[in-house]
Amino acid sequence: MNLEEIKQRMAYLSTTLNRYNYYYYVLSEPEISDFEFDQLLKELEHWERQHPEFLDPQSPTQIIGGSPIEGFITEKHKRPMLSLGNTYNIEELLEFDERCKKGLGVEIIEYVCELKIDGLAISVFYENGKLVKAVTRGDGIQGDVVTENVKTIRRLPHSLMGDYPEEVELRGEIFMHKKGFENLNMLRAEKGETLYANPRNVASGSLKIKDPKEVAKRPLDIFLYQVYHDNTPFKTHWESLTAAKQWGLPVPETSKICIGIDTVKKFLDQWDDQRKTLGFETDGVVIKVNSKSYQEELGFTAKTPRWAIAYKFQTETACTKLLGITYQVGRTGAITPVAELEPVSLLGTTVKRASLHNANEIERLDVRVGDFVFVEKGGEIIPKIVGIDFSQRDPNIQPTIFITHCPECNTELIRNDGEAQHYCPNSLECAPQVIGKLEHFIGRKAMDIDSVGSELCATLYEKQLVKAPADFYSLTTEILSQIDRMGQKSIDNILSGIEDSKKQPFERVLFALGIRYVGETVAKKLAQSLLHIDNFQSAKFEDLTAIDEIGDRIAESIIEYFSNPSNWYQINRLKQSGLNFETAAPVRASDELAGNTFVISGVFESISRDDLKVLIENHGGKIGSGVTSKTSYLVTGEGIGPSKLAKAEKLGVHLISETEILSWINKE
Ligand code: NAD
Repeated sequence: MNLEEIKQRMAYLSTTLNRYNYYYYVLSEPEISDFEFDQLLKELEHWERQHPEFLDPQSPTQIIGGSPIEGFITEKHKRPMLSLGNTYNIEELLEFDERCKKGLGVEIIEYVCELKIDGLAISVFYENGKLVKAVTRGDGIQGDVVTENVKTIRRLPHSLMGDYPEEVELRGEIFMHKKGFENLNMLRAEKGETLYANPRNVASGSLKIKDPKEVAKRPLDIFLYQVYHDNTPFKTHWESLTAAKQWGLPVPETSKICIGIDTVKKFLDQWDDQRKTLGFETDGVVIKVNSKSYQEELGFTAKTPRWAIAYKFQTETACTKLLGITYQVGRTGAITPVAELEPVSLLGTTVKRASLHNANEIERLDVRVGDFVFVEKGGEIIPKIVGIDFSQRDPNIQPTIFITHCPECNTELIRNDGEAQHYCPNSLECAPQVIGKLEHFIGRKAMDIDSVGSELCATLYEKQLVKAPADFYSLTTEILSQIDRMGQKSIDNILSGIEDSKKQPFERVLFALGIRYVGETVAKKLAQSLLHIDNFQSAKFEDLTAIDEIGDRIAESIIEYFSNPSNWYQINRLKQSGLNFETAAPVRASDELAGNTFVISGVFESISRDDLKVLIENHGGKIGSGVTSKTSYLVTGEGIGPSKLAKAEKLGVHLISETEILSWINKE
């Protein structure tokens, strides 16, 4: 490369990596794998060493992580929160050991090896034994104060025990256990929502939620790995960790003192394998010089300490042949392309299939049947295709053309503007959609008919005994005995389960209908606001979006559903079977706010957003999700969204503060 080309390459890498940083840290939705990111960063470092004259001060090699999150107070760190140098290979680890030994003039070094948990860094402060503050790493110099969110993590004590110092700062990692992550995704799948990619992204996204009550619903956990206080009495890192444990803090039990780099290597070998048995994700091991005075002597670069390094385990990638692409149809009619692979072993399991998500992903990868593809376990849970080995591509293979018709019922697929997913619109007759809807209808959070179950749903549909949810209520002993091996006891059980389900409240029935984008919470809000199914017929787009939590996309989907006569036909059949299609208006504390719609924005001092919403509704007010001409008041909290404010000003919507509204409803 000539000088101009190198300069251009450096500028390109800098811009691209900064964009990846934004997706990773700010949006918590990485666009590429960590390995790919680290390789590009290493390339940029290489060029910067060769050509410091082209170094951009905004280069991602010079700056750390994310930018401030809107809606939180940003604060400067007492001590910068740095990154860590990292490596994926043993040679570089040996070089690190050599550098440390040379810098200190010693023959052998005592290290502490700690698992590198894959979550997000946090700094927590205790004063006089009380947890007073938690700040995210942000850009390393300043971070966001997320104390209330962090206080929801059960493992983190709000008070210390024993002989703790007056003031102490601890650094640690907030993360999510694999089980908690899977449960969360299961709930999303039930609602037909897109799944989270991995536990790290959810943990990082959770801390950005403005309402601590919502955060408390996420199963977050924390481990602490670094202790700082002025005039520290500790001579080693290990001593400080031991003390933190005695103060009642969660310090991982897996950490170990390793004398010399050979012992470190044994620790790496042990955990490269054993980490797969842990309930949470680790992406490597952090190796730290144990002696505090040695740490001081070695010091820091602008971005990392010189006395520590992260050794990252490479995510196992396998290369295999793409035999075909099949298409799955979900309950909502969404089409998911699936890669059918030549079976290949990956982290101890045989992988035969991987999700290709949607047409955009196929296009982005330019993946073609016959290609050799790299498969990785995304977050080590769901296998995904991360790239193509173009060197093995047969020049004659054809680009992938996404199917145009449903693989199950041959109906022409549709793709709405701005959506990545293709859909089969034949929701009433397409087998996997109907079976999916029946399964959803009987689901635990819907009508809760556990005596039926998924398998029986499929059988009932195959035998054409149940074609729509309303058919469940016409089942009789006679009909059910047409099914093989169905005894009287099972039949009685099934029929009594179906009968019991008639007691389910309106909100559950509404959720059970399986309207796209109407999850449990939305169904509840709709039931409470519209009170009767017949009111859905006349509800206009603006009426729906004026309801809290109902955005444009949900409102459109509701209108589409209720404008379809066949959906009304099914609803009427369910009505005749005695299901609940109305609910009583809630009993209110007063009607003080009746006739007014409030939109809430920002964070409040004396009350959480959820409690404020409940309070307003309790006094007869309505909650809206966005400012429209129907909004009466915008309740302004700290860090109020600028777009909401601008819209309120434009539409002449009144602004009202927390104190004003509370005194309006006479709340102390
Ligand atoms: P890092 O993840 O390499 O290491 C530093 C972090 O490790 C600390 O901030 C802390 O959060 C964590 N950590 C876990 N256990 C620890 C322990 N025992 N002691 C000390 N720290 C511990 O560095 P980073 O600056 O957080 O992130 C950079 C890395 O993030 C990159 O190397 C890349 O792998 C990844 N990244 C990926 C993308 C992407 O698009 N995929 C984008 C940006 C960054």
